[in-house]
Amino acid sequence: MAIIITDECINCGACEPECPNTAIYEGADDWRYADGTDLSGDIVLPNGKAASANEAQEPLSDEIYYIVPDKCTECVGFHDEPQCAAVCPVDCCVPDPANEETREQLVSKQKFMHND
Ligand code: SF4
Ligand code: SF4
Repeated sequence: MAIIITDECINCGACEPECPNTAIYEGADDWRYADGTDLSGDIVLPNGKAASANEAQEPLSDEIYYIVPDKCTECVGFHDEPQCAAVCPVDCCVPDPANEETREQLVSKQKFMHND
């Protein structure tokens, strides 16, 4: 399950550098699949979605920090717990019921983004 940032976010920025998948962006910033991953060129995600890794994508929020669900692995592959939730001072990084995934799906997502 991906993590989502709720509107309780106070824009402190503490979570952004902690994300091993560069899935967290400041409000109003563009995002890319290629940012902080080994992805480039035309890609097909494990969930079947086709995309261009280097193309700038529209921000998911204009006001608060946001998490790209396609890039969040709940930190699987890197850490034992979601790092954003661990550092957030107002506990507004929570599981997103709209983006539920099994551990296997999270593992394959992590392997897809990183070639190591
Ligand atoms: S749970 Fe981990 S991978 Fe997902 S946004 Fe938070 S820090 Fe990034
Ligand atoms: S750590 Fe929490 S409050 Fe700070 S920017 Fe991230 S989600 Fe918002």
